[in-house]
Amino acid sequence: MVSDEKDGWVPARILKESGDSANVQLQNGSKKTVKRSAKEPLWPLNHSSLSRVEDDLVMVDAINQGLMVHNLRERYRRDLIYTWVGANHSVLVSINPFKMLPIYSPATIEEYAKPSAYRLDPPHTFAIANSAFMKLTQENVSQAILISGESGAGKTEATKQCFNFLAEVAGSQNAVEQRILHANPVLESFGNAKTLRNNNSSRFGRWTEVHFDPKGQVCGARIENYLLEKQRVVAQAKGERNFHIFYQLCTSEIAAHLELGAPEHFRYLRESGCVSVPGINDQKDFVEVEEAFTKLGFGFEEKCWCYETCAAVLHLGNISFSANGEGSQITLALNRPDMAYSAADALASAMYDSMFDWLVGRVNFAVQIFVKNHFEQLCINYTNEKLQQHFNKHTFQEEETVYSNEQIRFEHIHFIDNQPVVDLIEKKPYGLMPLLDEEVKIPKGSDGGWLSKCKTHNAQHPCLRPAGSNPNRFVVVHYAGEVPYEIGGFVTTNKDDLFRDLYDLVSGAQSDVTRSLFPPKDNNPRRLTTLGFKFRKALLDLMELVDTCEPWYIRCIKPNDQKDFSRVQLGNTMVLYRAEEHRVLELLRNLCLERVLPVAQRMARIRIGRTFRRCMANARAICAQALHTCAGDAAGLDAAIARAEQATANVRAVFAWEPPEM
Ligand code: ATP
Ligand code: MG
Repeated sequence: MVSDEKDGWVPARILKESGDSANVQLQNGSKKTVKRSAKEPLWPLNHSSLSRVEDDLVMVDAINQGLMVHNLRERYRRDLIYTWVGANHSVLVSINPFKMLPIYSPATIEEYAKPSAYRLDPPHTFAIANSAFMKLTQENVSQAILISGESGAGKTEATKQCFNFLAEVAGSQNAVEQRILHANPVLESFGNAKTLRNNNSSRFGRWTEVHFDPKGQVCGARIENYLLEKQRVVAQAKGERNFHIFYQLCTSEIAAHLELGAPEHFRYLRESGCVSVPGINDQKDFVEVEEAFTKLGFGFEEKCWCYETCAAVLHLGNISFSANGEGSQITLALNRPDMAYSAADALASAMYDSMFDWLVGRVNFAVQIFVKNHFEQLCINYTNEKLQQHFNKHTFQEEETVYSNEQIRFEHIHFIDNQPVVDLIEKKPYGLMPLLDEEVKIPKGSDGGWLSKCKTHNAQHPCLRPAGSNPNRFVVVHYAGEVPYEIGGFVTTNKDDLFRDLYDLVSGAQSDVTRSLFPPKDNNPRRLTTLGFKFRKALLDLMELVDTCEPWYIRCIKPNDQKDFSRVQLGNTMVLYRAEEHRVLELLRNLCLERVLPVAQRMARIRIGRTFRRCMANARAICAQALHTCAGDAAGLDAAIARAEQATANVRAVFAWEPPEM
């Protein structure tokens, strides 16, 4: 094998060698002289190796660059674009075919998803996705598929293939995986653009997590976006384009409505000299974006807001400024038109950037499945409200009453009074529970009927809200946060009713004990006992009992929803303690909240990636530890505060460094 300017490495026959050079003949018959050096040696070659192609690079006859390149090239010529590197099949080389190959069909997915004994394992993105998925389900360990390569190499396409595979083999009944797939057209329309190197170049970094439930089915996803190339909104290199969405809107049916027209009309679209791209049909792509928006559950207003923001950006770019603005109504400290142009440009790109962040957040909302909360969850949360109320009463109200009575000066501690939400749940006659009891008793009582009564009678209640546009959901604002509930089954679950004839049968039993458990009911249906009623009664009895005792509390703090200590969400943590310690703890908590989190938020805006996340995780861990320490040991408090201060200072020191403009 000899090096070649055009093909990298090519096979050749040595005709004559002299010193560090050799005369060789290439396969096409041409002759040339090549230099032999350490960097570019002449690799020996068996003739038989030339015709063999291996689907694993380490299986070539001699492991050298020349033969490996030859192997890849030969495979590529035969449309075999994937090759393994290594027998454990965890590294795959993929060469962009730039044409559609018939190797991604559902039938192929099925072949790769077979149990191991019957499975194909020729190199393929599906094989990688399958192995990762198998490991995940068999060993219960998170897997990451890392896809790299230069612009246009096929990263985005490979990602989509992995998703398609997972959606097919691990699809769930609620079709959340379909929503994850629908996220692509939207994110690509707003985040991809034609560049000189790739007609559909992703102009933002992306990390996508796919979450699986214990059954191994896709149950949600999370997309994180990094550093959208927002400068592209206002200027692009010659021959490149702005983000696809702008051209799609200009050619869409709603163009007139947005006062848009030909792309050439807009400064932000015309100056790079490229508005249409062979192979891209903006009108057709927009239809796909619209469909994806619908499938993701975007509301009409939400969608329109995105389009209007794009249109506003384009119109902003067309405002012209001139120096002789006599009689101008607004006075700004900009005295040259170019300053006004750059101010408008900065605003335009910032608007687009924020809209994109919002869009990713909204897509995330659409690809997450919420745990469905029903009647039982409402009962549990109602208990928590009552316990919290009890806690408030003892810790704050009674303590303050004692202070007041003894004329001790104290600072009022602000706490969340949850009486309103308790009322919403239990107060007669229009609380959620009493209304549910009524609904159970009427002949055609239904979940929908119950919810509409709840809404009518609590229309102004601050703790009851609709959940988006879904008529079957509602949100209760609990003291610990908002909880969405699904109405399905509320009435039936609450009924807790044996068929009346069966009940009567048992209540007529011979055994005294059985009869005492099922006392005869009178025939008045209004006195039907519901589960909610029983539950409330049990809860009230319990609270009465608790009231007669001296209370002790153990507050267990859940640092985050990921079961991950390094991700303590201090904002959600509530530390409550005996009154005299309370203020110190409050102080510490505020220290964390006021100093660390705003800096974090500022940094989140600048997004410098890993460094930031690592030092935030450290700071948070230290603060969490500080909180933890003082919860058990008041003497350790000073040290804890000092450590929290230090953590803050460290974070600040890192943040004082401004990242370079990217
Ligand atoms: P960038 O870093 O610019 O986002 P990328 O690595 O994500 O680039 P892709 O957008 O995935 O590149 O690929 C560029 C183009 O190459 C695709 O639009 C598609 O036309 C083609 N392509 C890539 N992979 C394949 C494939 N496996 N089969 C067919 N075409 C492909
Ligand atoms: Mg890409």
